[in-house]
Amino acid sequence: MTDKPVVLMPEDIQRIMGKDAQRNNILAARMVAEMVKTTLGPKGMDKMLVSPTNDIIVTNDGVTILEEMQIEHPAAKMMVDIAKTQDSEVGDGTTSVVMIAGKLLENAEKLLDQKIHPTVIVKGYKIAAEKCQELLNETALRISPDDDEILKQVAMTSMTGKSAENSKEKFAEIVVKAIKQIQNNGKIDLNDIKIEKSRGEGIADTELISGIVLDKEKISNDMPSLVNNARIALIDFALELKTPDIETKISISSPEQLQGFLNQEERLIKEMVNKVRATGANVIFCQKGIDDFSQYLFSRAGVYACRRVAKSDMEKLAKATGGKIVSNINELSSSELGDAEIVEEVKHSDDSFTYIKGCRNPKAVTILIHGGTGHIIDEIERAFKDGLGVVASSLKTKLVVPGGGAIEIELARRLRHFGQSLSGREQLAIEEFASALEFIPTTLAENAGLDPIDVLTELKSKHDAGERNAGLNLFTNKIENVLEARIIEPYKIKTQAINSAAEVANMILRIDDVIASNGKGKTGMKIHPEMNEEF
Ligand code: ADP
Ligand code: MG
Repeated sequence: MTDKPVVLMPEDIQRIMGKDAQRNNILAARMVAEMVKTTLGPKGMDKMLVSPTNDIIVTNDGVTILEEMQIEHPAAKMMVDIAKTQDSEVGDGTTSVVMIAGKLLENAEKLLDQKIHPTVIVKGYKIAAEKCQELLNETALRISPDDDEILKQVAMTSMTGKSAENSKEKFAEIVVKAIKQIQNNGKIDLNDIKIEKSRGEGIADTELISGIVLDKEKISNDMPSLVNNARIALIDFALELKTPDIETKISISSPEQLQGFLNQEERLIKEMVNKVRATGANVIFCQKGIDDFSQYLFSRAGVYACRRVAKSDMEKLAKATGGKIVSNINELSSSELGDAEIVEEVKHSDDSFTYIKGCRNPKAVTILIHGGTGHIIDEIERAFKDGLGVVASSLKTKLVVPGGGAIEIELARRLRHFGQSLSGREQLAIEEFASALEFIPTTLAENAGLDPIDVLTELKSKHDAGERNAGLNLFTNKIENVLEARIIEPYKIKTQAINSAAEVANMILRIDDVIASNGKGKTGMKIHPEMNEEF
């Protein structure tokens, strides 16, 4: 035994323990939820975010707001993470997931105040989340993948309340068409839908191109601006004189020798260009460079060419035109070429684009967004991403649920009923879980200037009377059958949101010790030992 104090950690470590740690984390997480709350639903407001470099984003999208806010608090960061997961898994519902998690924690705090141990709350929440999955399976509606009308409605619901509002019917149609076009044996890869932006015309001019749009111009003005019945070579080798990787010295002792050397190089280029021409190609997209001499030769032959096309675009071009990307001149033949009805250079205000359209059965397509300013175009792009996400998700699961808070109220009702079969304290946690779900319809009401308590009371009584599709229709500000009002959401948006929200709430509830070096930056969190098996 010595009298020396035991030093575990350096002095600049900040440590918060027990109740303080718990309350501090809960508060931070609730603040995140509070922040995005006003943007929920079709009547939600937008936020203007200004970056340190004065870039401005105007958005209504939960995950975008949180990502741009540079949140530092570790518990708050966990909330941002679930929004990101929601975004990558479903593509929509990012505000909702954060709000439910925030409300779960707020309600947990009430239970903590009543001296209910966090383990009990964690257990109750876990049971409730699992029950919700079961209830969602029971209540979700099965759709047919051929029912484009329903899919359009799902897309429209997710695009409501964004800047896309006025054109959402047209946009929803574009979304469904695009996904149906690229669907391959039931598989959907949203990377096959290119989103290209053009500043100038209004958002209503946004269009679906059955092919690809490149933000590139042809490399020479002497090339044609329009090629009909395009036969397209996709090459990823350079059409230029070989520049040696290492410095080389060529000894030349007479003008004839120099001329000879240049002639030889020219001959090689000519040969290459001739080989490309011999395949019948009248359009060339090259991933690497095309030098002046090749350019001249192609122009003379009336070929349309773009150079330094991004690899991702090359892959999309291959999928759209049916061509193959060739990496060796000797492998290029007529059968490797892709086809399109039209390849054309198009100018929108200051930008030049190359349209490759009229592809026969393109497995990659482009949504070309038009809009007056960059900010609008960016927000429309986010709306499209939401729409694409929800339609893809609905096609994957073939299940949808009623929106406008209807599903949340029905889940809460059934959850409470189920809770009655459980014993005392867990029942309290289940009750709080149910009331956290009701936070969605009450906020939808609040953001539209309606009385949240009136709305909640009416919704509950309708659901008690068996009207399980009764929800808040914010087109009419009435409580009615939201399926008939065409407010429909994908099933996955809810399963994912409820699961993630419960997980993060439980994770935060289980923390009773925060150890932070320098007070910020790297942070270690210790989880309550008794609770380790819970998750
Ligand atoms: P999130 O980021 O969670 O998707 P949104 O701002 O997109 O947040 O709002 C989604 C919520 O708005 C969902 O609960 C959805 O049911 C609801 N909603 C969408 N359209 C309507 C409508 N016309 N009337 C009422 N609620 C609607
Ligand atoms: Mg949404």
